[in-house]
Amino acid sequence: MTARRTVIRGGMVLDAEGRAALRDLLIEDGRIVAIDNPGLGVADDAEVLSAFDRLLIPGLISAHTHSHGALNRGAVNDKVSLEMFLTGAGASARSRGVDDKYLSAALSAAEMIRKGCTACFDLTVEFPEPSREGISAVARAYRDAGMRAVVAPMIADRTIYQALPGLLEALPDDLRSHCAGLSAAPIEQTFSACRDILANWEFDRRWIRPALGPTIPLHCSDQFLIDCAHLAREHDVPLQTHLAESRAQAAIGLTRYGKSLVGHLQELDFLSERLSAAHAVWLDDDDISRLGQSGVRVAHNPSSNLRLGSGVAPVRKMLENGIAVGVGTDASNTSDGQNMFEATRLASYLSRIDGFATDEWLSAGEAFHLATEGSAKVLGFEKIGRLARGYEADIVFLRLDSPHFVPLRSPLIQMVFGENGASVHTVMIGGRIVFHDAKLLTLDESLLRRQAQEAANRLDQANAGTYASAATVAQLVGAFCAAQGCTGHALPRKLKLACEG
Ligand SMILES: [Zn+2]
Repeated sequence: MTARRTVIRGGMVLDAEGRAALRDLLIEDGRIVAIDNPGLGVADDAEVLSAFDRLLIPGLISAHTHSHGALNRGAVNDKVSLEMFLTGAGASARSRGVDDKYLSAALSAAEMIRKGCTACFDLTVEFPEPSREGISAVARAYRDAGMRAVVAPMIADRTIYQALPGLLEALPDDLRSHCAGLSAAPIEQTFSACRDILANWEFDRRWIRPALGPTIPLHCSDQFLIDCAHLAREHDVPLQTHLAESRAQAAIGLTRYGKSLVGHLQELDFLSERLSAAHAVWLDDDDISRLGQSGVRVAHNPSSNLRLGSGVAPVRKMLENGIAVGVGTDASNTSDGQNMFEATRLASYLSRIDGFATDEWLSAGEAFHLATEGSAKVLGFEKIGRLARGYEADIVFLRLDSPHFVPLRSPLIQMVFGENGASVHTVMIGGRIVFHDAKLLTLDESLLRRQAQEAANRLDQANAGTYASAATVAQLVGAFCAAQGCTGHALPRKLKLACEG
């Protein structure tokens, strides 16, 4: 069989150093095999694609998202902190059938592609426990969309009421007995589903891979975390968890374990190159150094951290400690979309809020590097995230007649700081065009829209009671967490001292 060849001519190609120049690219069987000056000689059978007046960049990679959030857009109120969100999060995944799980992932994938994102790490939750058919439905949605993804069942063995010591006692009597009666899925059931998922993976791992997502350390017993790490090693898959995302988590971690969350995870031998930590906001210097020494990767989620008021992750310090950092959007119900251009810009802007030490700011080039090659490390894919020979042909074509590229001086800076996804003209993933001229070619978006509205109406009705009680509890949980001895924008070190003293 002869190789499928495509030559892309006349585009301005952004290289790994952030320089843009007119180049031709030759693609064979989905991979870039040559990048050269215009006029690259190719075999007669190669398909020719014009990229005239386009900036070609590697597809952005979301290091952290939750596809189940797409069907829940608009269901999370304004002014909700992480723990308030988590109180109602159970409702969000309830009552869903396999078709709903597919639909939510398809909606998420469609938006990612539209916004120039070609791969993601998806922690997906099912209620009451993960299932092979549910995770397969999510993976199928990515396959049908033509994206790459790592799909991990998001799991725990504690409810939020069991996870946060003192919370139940802080609730009024009637709510306390209700909340105390809630429980997570039995551990054996959760692990047997995970084993089934990992042992029977039916998708091409060049495109879609499995992983495990023990959701939040406080929500997992020590044995649960140990078993997760063991299972991940056994099947050679990555792990991702939400680490020290909120100030309350960090403070309660100190109370529960007598040491930081990172210190506790290290003691459990949970830190490794297999692990990525989403958020990682409330860390001190020791924590960061331990993460660096253990090879843990970090998924930075600036838009979600802002939306939920979680704080600002110390990304510069992570980089100084040799940590591979990627960028993610988080779910569509915690950052209101899957816009990786926005997340990348915010990663850079947010690094500047602390003062005038401009050397410590993340440059446009650094932020872009995190959102491509950094995120690729979080996903564990070696050959994505850059336009270079031997890499997968995951390429986003941006229109250079968009206002923020006129006049054109610095394609990199103008793209990172000015692009919002509106200039995405064509998206190629593995050599296949999945989006072209404002149209998604792999999924029927008008059908998805009809199905989404129908599903939202049905699920809102089915979950109305759960949402109502969650809304009441959320206010109390928010007040409890705010009172964890550490109000205000405390630095981690001060937080530690305040909580210990
Ligand atoms: Zn998350």
